Amino acid sequence: MPRDYYEVLGVSRNASEAEIKRAYRQLAMQYHPDRNPGDKGAEERFKEASQAYAILSDGDKRAQYDRFGSVGVGGFAEQGFGTLFEDIFESFFAGTGRGRRSRAARGEDLQYELKITLDEAAAGLETKIQIPRMERCGECNGTGLEPGSRRIACDMCQGRGEVRLSQGFLTVARTCPKCHGEGEVNRNPCPACRGESRQRAERLLQVKIPPGIDDGMQLRISAEGSAGYGGGPPGDLYVLVRIKEHELFVRNGADLYCDLPVTFAQLALGAETDVPVLGGTVKLKIPAGSQPNQVLKLRGRGMPRLRERGHGDACYRLILEVPPKLNARQREALEAFEAASKGQGGPLISSFLERMKKLLE
Ligand SMILES: [Zn+2]
Ligand SMILES: [Zn+2]
Repeated sequence: MPRDYYEVLGVSRNASEAEIKRAYRQLAMQYHPDRNPGDKGAEERFKEASQAYAILSDGDKRAQYDRFGSVGVGGFAEQGFGTLFEDIFESFFAGTGRGRRSRAARGEDLQYELKITLDEAAAGLETKIQIPRMERCGECNGTGLEPGSRRIACDMCQGRGEVRLSQGFLTVARTCPKCHGEGEVNRNPCPACRGESRQRAERLLQVKIPPGIDDGMQLRISAEGSAGYGGGPPGDLYVLVRIKEHELFVRNGADLYCDLPVTFAQLALGAETDVPVLGGTVKLKIPAGSQPNQVLKLRGRGMPRLRERGHGDACYRLILEVPPKLNARQREALEAFEAASKGQGGPLISSFLERMKKLLE
């Protein structure tokens, strides 16, 4: 059961709007998390006061609370808290420093583009990649200090991390420009990293690409990005896999597609022909009477399925090529073929002729 809101703010039940606002403002300043870093008790008081204020500053909700002892607006305090706080205190806290700031920050994530072939994507790949990245300076062990020296309190802010500026009667606190809020300065920077605590390095890393990987996929290699700042954790490395275009295959998931040019005779008579597969060639049987654009499949000869069992298919689309020029013998043979075919086309021709005839009846 939450405490009574009036009690939380320390005001009487008939307090005016102005009294409620004043009381909240005082508590919020006292218990604000920025002024009490890490103090859970203060944070709790701050939230409690904000919640009480959210209800008591709203005429309708206050009336409801007075009558029923609660307000049916679940989640309001959490949800409305940010804007409420900003509304009232933005001007007050605007431009204030937040006390001393830590130098620790996570290092940058890096991306490395790795180009591989379709065959490598099919087989999987272990390879070494060279990553330019920032690493912890070995000379100063990441402190940024010349060996034997240490950081000293910033003389501009006396170690507070913020400076107070007076403009007339108004005093505002700002992040110290000399130490950037750290409260201390490095008078003896490490000569190797010039006080940056990190150094450029080229690192050779072993990466393992799983079989079946597709173009555009990324592998995350945890903690292999750039070193952190001031003791912060390193970033991650993302290996972006790009698969080079294959001479003959187009990939769709685990299936591979290839346009296979064939002659009329191969389609009509049937044939066995060499076709490409991953890592070589195999014989593909074209059945007699195959049609142009028909797709023949070799089951299981496609790409391995990523992190699954089995392979996709290799698919061959039969592309009919009519010879642009005929020699004398070819012409003779085709003319004989045509003469022998009169009245005996395929089902497409028969059905077309029949429908033509119907039109003329
Ligand atoms: Zn300073
Ligand atoms: Zn160094």
